[in-house]
Amino acid sequence: MFVPFNQLLDVTIEHFRLLKARGTQFVAVEPETMRVLNAPARRSNSPSRTANSEHRTETAVPVANGAPALDSHLPTPDSSKAQAIAELRDRAMQCMKCAHLASTRKNVVFGVGNIDAAIMFVGEAPGADEDLQGEPFVGAAGQLLTRMIGAMGLSRDHVYIANILKCRPDMPAGSSGNRKPTPEEMQTCIPYLHAQIDLIGPKVLIALGGTAMEGLLGKSGITKLRGQWHTYRGIPLMPTYHPAYLLRNQSNAEKRKVWEDLMAVMEKAGLSITEKQRGFFLKS
Ligand code: URA
Repeated sequence: MFVPFNQLLDVTIEHFRLLKARGTQFVAVEPETMRVLNAPARRSNSPSRTANSEHRTETAVPVANGAPALDSHLPTPDSSKAQAIAELRDRAMQCMKCAHLASTRKNVVFGVGNIDAAIMFVGEAPGADEDLQGEPFVGAAGQLLTRMIGAMGLSRDHVYIANILKCRPDMPAGSSGNRKPTPEEMQTCIPYLHAQIDLIGPKVLIALGGTAMEGLLGKSGITKLRGQWHTYRGIPLMPTYHPAYLLRNQSNAEKRKVWEDLMAVMEKAGLSITEKQRGFFLKS
């Protein structure tokens, strides 16, 4: 049966949309498939843009927003990095190291954002919303984190966000809320975060909250730790309060402390800070 190319393309785009809605960020594509997908685009677009796919063995392609110009999502020269992260993600998705978490999770929450980010946020562990959606920081605390990133003049697409633990800590049957990850769970899961940090190579890390600091550096007491530079895997690390703490303590004084930590991060990452930004949360 002959199926017109445009029809095939529509079906493919629809399939990608579905995968994206389910949380898939990368798909592995055979070189032959890439060649076929590129062929018509090559006729209508600049030929030089598509010349780089032939020699690759398998390619991790970001799932597009349904844009027909699939070639605009071709791997950059840094596709080996995207592929390594996609492979790491695949491994994490199938992880069974903590049997009790694997059996209760709805999703593995690997991480989200720009794999070339200069700034990487590290939180504690997924909560119920994150477990459901497969994305870190999407609940109430996550929405505040998104606003904090916006105040820095950035969006979630500019930064990378991950957690110490990739699975939601299980809760006793019938109880709601979250529990802190155990030291054993953090130790078991941390190799994934190490690999993420090493692959992404951010300029600056931000530890969100006391548990993140315990998981990363084995240090406790976020009140004393925050606002001071540390180093983690050779990268400057700024601890600050978890956004969930700010939801519970909404005073301008506490918000200002976090904002000062974020401004220090912006400076370290080479971002400019406007006078308006310098003045955030100064009024009581
Ligand atoms: N809190 C975290 O530390 N991480 C999340 O992903 C959500 C809430």
